[in-house]
Amino acid sequence: YVTGKAEESDMEVVATEEEAAVLKKVPEGSKDAVVLKNLYLSCDPYMRSRMTKHDPPSYNPDFVPGEVITGFGVSKVVDSTHPNFKVGDLVWGTTGWEEYTLITNPLILFKINHPDMPLSYYTGILGMPGFTAYVGFHEIASPKKGEYVFISAAAGAVGQLVGQFAKILGCYVVGAAGSDEKVGLLKSKFGFDDAFNYKKEPDLSLALKRCFPEGIDIYFENVGGAMLEAVLDNMRLHGRISACGMISQYNLLEPEGIRNIVQIIPKRIRMEGFIVSDHFANYRKFEETAVQYIKEGKITYVEDIAEGLEKAPSALIGLFEGKNVGKQVVVVSHG
Ligand code: NDP
Repeated sequence: YVTGKAEESDMEVVATEEEAAVLKKVPEGSKDAVVLKNLYLSCDPYMRSRMTKHDPPSYNPDFVPGEVITGFGVSKVVDSTHPNFKVGDLVWGTTGWEEYTLITNPLILFKINHPDMPLSYYTGILGMPGFTAYVGFHEIASPKKGEYVFISAAAGAVGQLVGQFAKILGCYVVGAAGSDEKVGLLKSKFGFDDAFNYKKEPDLSLALKRCFPEGIDIYFENVGGAMLEAVLDNMRLHGRISACGMISQYNLLEPEGIRNIVQIIPKRIRMEGFIVSDHFANYRKFEETAVQYIKEGKITYVEDIAEGLEKAPSALIGLFEGKNVGKQVVVVSHG
């Protein structure tokens, strides 16, 4: 198990001794099982938490040291004894960080209804992170047209989409990101009204005052720590904080305290955490909306592609160093 900062060396890429023909077949007598050929893997910040030993257990099971990492991905069904999946189906959901994965009793596995879209989009805009952005903004933050919205980790998989959903609704949108390149993308590609590089701001609270002279109605929280403190100083009465993630805390041995959390009382702020998988029953409706947005050119989307399974460890660790520009995807196979 990992304590403190996760490193590339906490993961190992190994060759299997089993023959390809065996790997591609559901074992004799195994019911409701599929073998997936993995095409694209999704690097997601929550995976860091699965490297830690949890007692009591977390909502997501801990990785077992020495076993194959699991996560979200896009795959093709190459063998099946499951009534809902047939050979050749394209799917997204939980799979292994390997070339072929046997899944018995798949719990999170969606058939891809729009194979005409770039398939890697099902690791992002059309998959878990896209749905996270949608649920976290529209359902948790209760947004209204014209409201002032702030997003941290704004150029990432979730953040870039939250900003665009908020613009579609008619909000004023500002994002923070960790490089000038990302800030440029927020303003020029994703249509944010304003953006700043938080690493260059000596005082985050002042930076937010500059961007929101009248205060913030909605904070889409991806980062936590010092950014949350600065936001609390700038929230308006009856503001809402959609607590999606706090990536600045995931590598720490102890989470940081929030010095001014008391402000949520006089400002009547509602801060609500959520886990996207609780909402998967509504995923299909979102898929149709997002595909429509893409086809109409209402939304653009940026991915950061790492080629080859052997790049997966560095791609995952890169999330915690801000190396990814857009959604971090790993290509295992192009088809
Ligand atoms: P991103 O694509 O945004 O990648 C992570 C980004 O976080 C990095 O690129 C970096 O951007 C920023 N970052 C990393 N370390 C720090 C730090 N110490 N302080 C500030 N920023 C940091 O990831 P996702 O879009 O996939 O995820 C965004 C958030 O959403 C995460 O917190 C994640 O845990 C959460 N999440 C929650 C879900 C839920 O169900 N609640 C589901 C999916 C995601 P930069 O260069 O700007 O620093």
